[in-house]
Amino acid sequence: MNTFTIIFLIALIISSSIQFWLAKRHADYVAAHRSAVPDAFKDKVPLAAHQKAADYTLEKVKLGNIDGILGILVLLLLTLGGGINASFDYWTTFFSSPLMAGVAATASIFLLLTVIEIPTSIYQTFVIEEKFGFNKSTVNQFIKDQFMHLGLGAAIGLPLLALILWIMDNVGPFWWLWAWAIIMSFSLLMSWLYPTVIAPLFNKFTPMEDGSLKDRIQGLLTRCGFNSQGIFIMDGSKRSGHGNAYFTGLGNNKRIVFFDNLVNSLEDEELEAVLAHELGHFKCKHVIKMLIATAIMSLISLAILGWLINESWFYTGLGVEQPSHAAALLLFLMVSSSFTFFMQPISAYFQRQFEFEADDFAANNAKASKMISGLVKLYEENANTLTPDPLYSAFHYSHPPAAIRIAHLETKI
Ligand SMILES: [Zn+2]
Repeated sequence: MNTFTIIFLIALIISSSIQFWLAKRHADYVAAHRSAVPDAFKDKVPLAAHQKAADYTLEKVKLGNIDGILGILVLLLLTLGGGINASFDYWTTFFSSPLMAGVAATASIFLLLTVIEIPTSIYQTFVIEEKFGFNKSTVNQFIKDQFMHLGLGAAIGLPLLALILWIMDNVGPFWWLWAWAIIMSFSLLMSWLYPTVIAPLFNKFTPMEDGSLKDRIQGLLTRCGFNSQGIFIMDGSKRSGHGNAYFTGLGNNKRIVFFDNLVNSLEDEELEAVLAHELGHFKCKHVIKMLIATAIMSLISLAILGWLINESWFYTGLGVEQPSHAAALLLFLMVSSSFTFFMQPISAYFQRQFEFEADDFAANNAKASKMISGLVKLYEENANTLTPDPLYSAFHYSHPPAAIRIAHLETKI
């Protein structure tokens, strides 16, 4: 225990209290607006669908709260409770190489954190999603997915972790610049490989069939001067009833992906508008801007870590007796969210501005009216609430709340 312990506890208490308070406000707001469809959606969304969205939201908030409490307990047990310290003690006696001991200690904590999340994930999939008719996953599929995630995490994460720890130990005081360059190149490589190498491990991607929809989409791509490696339909219905569309990949490896659910539920013109919105993110340079923001934030984080690894109070304040680079990295990854939490509304605000810009792009390059009808269908079919608490959404939402977003699009018709 030292002053830093107190600072950490205060940050944790304040950030968690705000989280729970916002969640409570959100649940109360959604419950209070459950009895009637908001005016803007009166003739578009049936009352039953609106109430289903409210009930679904309330269940998710409840699970989020339990998950939040569990997260705090685990964080405290691993840091001040001595869990991380014990892991390092154990692996140091096991391996003579500090690098190996560091990798093993860090990896075992990550494994523990992953395993602890499994019950929440089971409840989310087989109780909540099941109850609202969204779950399409089987127990076998679920188990297979968990092993795939773990295997992939180990295959990608362990070599990267070993490389970063080696750099921390061997390249001198500016190791964090090297580590930053490696993490950035690595994440670019992953984004580039994702559509063709990683995503196909989990889902099947079928090129969109020739026909009027494909012609319409090709027309939009040509109009917007957009090159991609093709338009694919993903078998999202294998796991879930939720629908979506996204762009993936970088440079010449970009793909357009529609979930099969989405193609089945939207009209061609609505799909065109949804795709135009996604294109807007590229054309308005949102992808590049987000990448630059991430790069700057990572550099600042690593520079802070570069300073912290030499400060003994950082270790002892968080329950670790023997300083090591691996312990510093792990502690930093675990406790930083309690301090950066307060920046979340800022990044959420910028993301929502990007969504407005992408909607403007969609309205200019497709039909705003079809964007609206497509969005309303998506809100309804995904049981997204139309009435989020304003403060909760300001803090957490990467997309503008339904009513605000639709009102903005209506000015573009
Ligand atoms: Zn968007």
